Amino acid sequence: MSKSSLPRPRILMVYTGGTIGMQENPVTHALAPVDFHHLIDSVPKLKMLDFEIGSFQFERPIDSSAMTPGHWAEIAKVIEDNYESYDGFVVLHGTDTMAYTSSALSFMLENLDKPVIITGSQLPIGEVRTDGEENLITALQIAAARDASGQHMVREVAILFENYLWRGNRSTKRSADNFNAFKSNNYPELAKIGLGITYNREALWRGRNPGAPLKVHYNMDCNVLYMDLFPGIKEEVVKHMLATPGIKGVVLKTFGAGNGPTDPWFFEAIRKTVEKGIVVVNITQCTNGSVHPFRYQTGMELAQCGVVSGHDLTSEAAITKLMHLLGRGMSADEVKNYMELSLCGEISS
Ligand code: ASP
Repeated sequence: MSKSSLPRPRILMVYTGGTIGMQENPVTHALAPVDFHHLIDSVPKLKMLDFEIGSFQFERPIDSSAMTPGHWAEIAKVIEDNYESYDGFVVLHGTDTMAYTSSALSFMLENLDKPVIITGSQLPIGEVRTDGEENLITALQIAAARDASGQHMVREVAILFENYLWRGNRSTKRSADNFNAFKSNNYPELAKIGLGITYNREALWRGRNPGAPLKVHYNMDCNVLYMDLFPGIKEEVVKHMLATPGIKGVVLKTFGAGNGPTDPWFFEAIRKTVEKGIVVVNITQCTNGSVHPFRYQTGMELAQCGVVSGHDLTSEAAITKLMHLLGRGMSADEVKNYMELSLCGEISS
C-alpha cells in the first residue's frame, strides 16, 4: 500500500499516570496523578492531528515509582487486545521507571512490528512551560509515521523525550531536572526531533521474524536482585544477599570492564551461588561501554566462576531481561545462553 492511499492513522493512547497528567494538591503542594480526560482537555492542539485516537487508562493512574510487573502485564494486554485495530500505541508514563517499563515491554512483546512509543514529561501538562504537550504530540506523530513503502517507520518499543527517540531497552533516565531526561549511552538515537523528525534508519529495529504474529509473555519472575559492588563491600553483606531465599538471578554491577574485589572469599561466594543454579550476570557500573570479561584477571576469574557477561546491557534491561527469561520457565543454562544474545536489540553484537 502506498503512503497516500492509507486511511487516517489509528493510535491508541495508554495512560498510566506520571507527571504529565499530574496536578498540584492545593493543600500539600505535592504532585499527584489526575484523570486522563483532564490531560486531553489540556491539549486542544490534539484536534489538529488528523488521527483517530483511542484511549485506555489505568483505573488508578500512578506515580511510576509504584510501577510493578502487574502493571507491565496490564499495558501488554491492552496492546495485545488492540493490536490489529490500531496502527500504533503511545504509552503515557512517569519518567522514574520509564526505562524499566520500556525494557520490560520490549521483551514481553515478542515479534512486535508496530510502534509502541512511551513518553511523559518533567512538568505537568497543565503548566505554562510544560514539556508534556510537545512530547505527547511528537509521540503520536512517530506512532503514526510510515516509510515510503507504507510500512511502520518504528517497529519497536521506544522512548520519546524532548529532542530524541531512543530504543526502549537501551534507555536510562539521566536527569531529574532536564527536559532531555533520557539517554542511551551505548546506542545511537532512533530519531532526532528538531524542526522535523529525522529518523536514523540504520538504527531502527527490524524484527528477526517479519510477519510472525505478536506473542506476549506476561510472566515476569521477581526473584532477582542487583548487587552493586564498591571497594570495601563486606563478606557478610555479599553472602547475606546471595543467600536470599528463592533467589534465581543476580545482576552484578561491577567496576569498569567487569571487575570486582580480588578476595578469595568473593570468588568463592559467587562460585557457590552459580553452582546452586542461580544465574549471575555481569554488567558494568560505567554509564558507557561494555563488560570485557577477559581483559583483566579479576573479570576472567568471575567468568571462570560461571558468571555470564551482560556485555553493554543497561541495568534496567539486564534486570528485566532476567525477570523475563526466568518468567518463561527456562533452566539456568538456557537463561545464561539467552542473556548473552540480543533478543530485540538490547545488546550490541
Ligand atoms: N515521579 C514521577 C513518575 O515517575 C516523575 C515523572 O513522571 O517525571 O511518575
